[in-house]
Amino acid sequence: MQISGTTKLLGLIGTPVGHSRSPQMYNYCFQKFNQDFVYLAFDVALEDVGKAVQAIKTLNIRGANVTMPLKNAVIPFLDHVSMAAQAIGAVNTIVNEGGVLTGHNTDGVGYTLNLKSGGVAVKGKKMTLIGAGGAASAIMTQCALEGIREISVFNIKDGFWPRAKANLEAVRKAVPHIKLALYDLSDKELLKEEVRSSDILSNATRVGMAPHDNISIADGMEDMLHSGLAVADTVYNPVETKFLMQARSAGCRIFDGLGMLLFQGAEAYRLYTGAMMPVDEIRNVLYR
Ligand code: NAD
Repeated sequence: MQISGTTKLLGLIGTPVGHSRSPQMYNYCFQKFNQDFVYLAFDVALEDVGKAVQAIKTLNIRGANVTMPLKNAVIPFLDHVSMAAQAIGAVNTIVNEGGVLTGHNTDGVGYTLNLKSGGVAVKGKKMTLIGAGGAASAIMTQCALEGIREISVFNIKDGFWPRAKANLEAVRKAVPHIKLALYDLSDKELLKEEVRSSDILSNATRVGMAPHDNISIADGMEDMLHSGLAVADTVYNPVETKFLMQARSAGCRIFDGLGMLLFQGAEAYRLYTGAMMPVDEIRNVLYR
């Protein structure tokens, strides 16, 4: 692929960005499918967020992925914000349509596409969701929009608790018929009960992430895992977490956080280019 006068620019904004695999993933696809785009990572500090968003318009950049600490901070500078991104309160993808910038959040879609790739649709199902941070909000919102029947959210009583209550209210407002409840994660018996009557169990906490990858959110409660359960982790480092190993041993269908990460990238790729990203190939080639 030749970079020419017509090549369109895409990018990642946030800080730090040096470790990101996004440039590798997107540029691999552009070369493979001969698409006239190039993708770069831009290290942008929080205080420069407005200038960075303005530059997307000024330079007619096709769009940008947004990472920490800018996911909330970009919102006031955008022309439109998608319903999911509004409910989650965070934008991870900006698309520039002729100078009009729209903010999206593809994390939730990435989660449901990952499940769908393994034959699990959320419509009509019950989920137990552990966590109430950014990833959990995205999952809860998207699953609600896709017609999930019930979500039981469990979180520790930390700083995320008030935010969790507000998130539940926001989702209830958007999807009034959904059954939602917030419980204290320290109530292990209630957690087991909810998991036993669920179709899907998701970990959206940081528990199990390297270097603390010898622990799992299900430690001491492995007996709640049943073969009818689809179990998903948002953690992608390591790809196969202790939680997923426990679920596999119990006969559950498992969905790793790398799948969610790749599918959220694929959704952004679709928004930028209109084309589908070959997720399985990217997984094999770049993340073997
Ligand atoms: P966050 O900081 O917004 O939320 C952290 C959550 O973990 C909160 O609910 C918090 O209460 C909970 N928590 C923290 N310590 C805990 C403990 N000891 N026990 C129980 N709960 C605890 O983080 P986030 O952005 O939501 O990320 C959560 C995880 O999801 C991270 O591992 C992140 O890498 C991953 N993630 C993955 C994707 C993906 O595409 N796969 C996308 C976003 C986030």
